[in-house]
Amino acid sequence: MTLSNERGDLSPRRSVVIAVIDFHTHSAASDGALRARDLVARAADEGVTRFALTDHDTIAGYLSITQYVPHGLELVSGVELSCQWGRVGIHVIGLGFDESNADLLEHLAQLDAARVDRSARIAHRLEKAGMPGALEGALEIAAGAQIGRPHFARWMVASGYVDTEQDAFKRFLGRGKPGDISVLWPALHCSVEAIIQAGGVAVLAHPLEYKMTATRLRALRDAFCEAGGQAIEVINGRANPGDADQLWRLADERDLMVSVGSDFHRDTPYGAGLGVDVTAFPEGRGVWEVLCAA
Ligand code: AMP
Ligand code: MN
Ligand code: MN
Ligand code: MN
Repeated sequence: MTLSNERGDLSPRRSVVIAVIDFHTHSAASDGALRARDLVARAADEGVTRFALTDHDTIAGYLSITQYVPHGLELVSGVELSCQWGRVGIHVIGLGFDESNADLLEHLAQLDAARVDRSARIAHRLEKAGMPGALEGALEIAAGAQIGRPHFARWMVASGYVDTEQDAFKRFLGRGKPGDISVLWPALHCSVEAIIQAGGVAVLAHPLEYKMTATRLRALRDAFCEAGGQAIEVINGRANPGDADQLWRLADERDLMVSVGSDFHRDTPYGAGLGVDVTAFPEGRGVWEVLCAA
């Protein structure tokens, strides 16, 4: 594989020689296990050539690595924004935005506040379910990271209330369970606008995770387009050809670009490794062809 592109060589019509992309990853600045610096170093070691750290609702991890970009890897700014479409929680990935954009920073500050508020409400629900001290416990585990349900799940395992984090989601934190409080996020179009007005590209993350009917998923895609969204994530984690075909169609019908990522949080026996080889992708469709490194 030839990985010799210099910065500035990436016009959309040029043949794609940069082939291993990861535009969806998490560090310990949100709910991932690795420090941002260790994660990006590992991505470079594993042959990833273009990389975005897309922590949930924070760019702190990204800001911590802009000075430590490993040789051979191009870093693109990234974030995975929580939002909602109607009452459904949706994730929109922002890539290649200006990280000093005031409106985007204000949007992120609102998400910080929403997460702090939500964590208190989750803790209250867990307390009612017989688990006192959840807020303090989860905050201690988060250790300054953007707080989320996974930190509660880890605390519940550490406290012996459940056997595994999966169990914690299944019984207490997952969809429809007491700790699932998802009505506080900004509307989908606000998140898309926040990314775009900061010069970034907005990607609809893992569309099949929302468990929608095909008709409803198209309606979501259309709402995303109308808000200015530009791309669909066609590979998230382990590639599933059937899923990817469906997602390509979703993108094709509205002439959207495509993005890919591992959604790496930590090593697991069943999870995807870092990086997606896009050598065989058709030219002119990948978001990586229009994004410049930071
Ligand atoms: P939050 O951002 O606080 O809403 O938490 C969502 C995060 O929890 C996702 O990004 C996943 O990393 C994690 N998650 C969601 N569902 C599960 C599950 N069933 N088991 C383990 N982790 C999960
Ligand atoms: Mn996560
Ligand atoms: Mn997500
Ligand atoms: Mn993610």
